[in-house]
Amino acid sequence: MTVTRGRSYYVLMASRWKHDRPMSRAEFAQRFPDEAACARHLFQRRWPIGFVCPACGGVRGWELSGKRFTWECAGCGRQTSVTAGTVMHGSKLPLTAWFTAIHLLSSHSNGISALQLQAQLGLRSYKSAWLLLHKLRRAMVDPDRLPLAELVEVDESEIPYRTKDDPPAGGQGRSHVGKLLIIGAVELSAEHRPGRIRLDRLQDFSAASIAGFIGGAVAPGATIVSDGLQAYRSLKQHKHQRKVVGSMAAHIVLPWIHRVFANLKRWGLGTFHGMRQAHLRRYLDEFVFRWNRRRHTRAAFDTLVGLTTRLGHASYRDFVDQRI
Ligand SMILES: [Zn+2]
Repeated sequence: MTVTRGRSYYVLMASRWKHDRPMSRAEFAQRFPDEAACARHLFQRRWPIGFVCPACGGVRGWELSGKRFTWECAGCGRQTSVTAGTVMHGSKLPLTAWFTAIHLLSSHSNGISALQLQAQLGLRSYKSAWLLLHKLRRAMVDPDRLPLAELVEVDESEIPYRTKDDPPAGGQGRSHVGKLLIIGAVELSAEHRPGRIRLDRLQDFSAASIAGFIGGAVAPGATIVSDGLQAYRSLKQHKHQRKVVGSMAAHIVLPWIHRVFANLKRWGLGTFHGMRQAHLRRYLDEFVFRWNRRRHTRAAFDTLVGLTTRLGHASYRDFVDQRI
């Protein structure tokens, strides 16, 4: 449903589960009991008005009876499975595992760790669960998303990370924690309520780094509300409203971005026992996806299924070597 801002907005927030309840486990099990049900749904999300050949663009084709979930183009003869050319391309995991992971990621307010997913899906290898989650996190960035607009709060922060030598889950070993720089932005409504957010890693606090983030995340002409670092004052395409922090704590003058940072850090520690430096961007993307759909958790499932059809395959090495 569409949430309109105004007096009724607060009423809706208070009774959010009445209007936006994520799909229950029972409903999920009923809708997606097997491979065929998942393939049908994926087909609908990928080709909402019917099959389109990825090779020639032809729209006439038929499903092959001998090959599962595969269509043959009447124009060029190319055979295309429903997962070909998607994030799921070439995966050894069944579609039911993918769909379960999408359901858990999109309906749990805290997401899920690879260790938890491995247990949920009964996977033998931790690596399979880890790779599945990273492939889905990569799909969580909508290539057509619009930049934040109007009034946008921006600030930087530091986030602790877990090093390679730490155990995969908390409990044992000494926590060896370092810090990474991040930057974030929150879109504010006319009533100063938070809307969509963006987060990214930051190399340093230089004007160029900050301008780089703002150029990608915030629409030209928008007003940036910040603590007034020099970097913000030299922005060319944005208006700037400086909140003087001085003796006042930054979380009072920039309340929403600080709430985002606080939630992000708590999530990182709670779900992952600290995020890893190499993959911080993926975790940020996951956090942003969930925050931006926090009033639309039911639709988030379909959104994520749809997004998996927009990107191609990526391998384990692509993620580990950070080639993508
Ligand atoms: Zn074709």
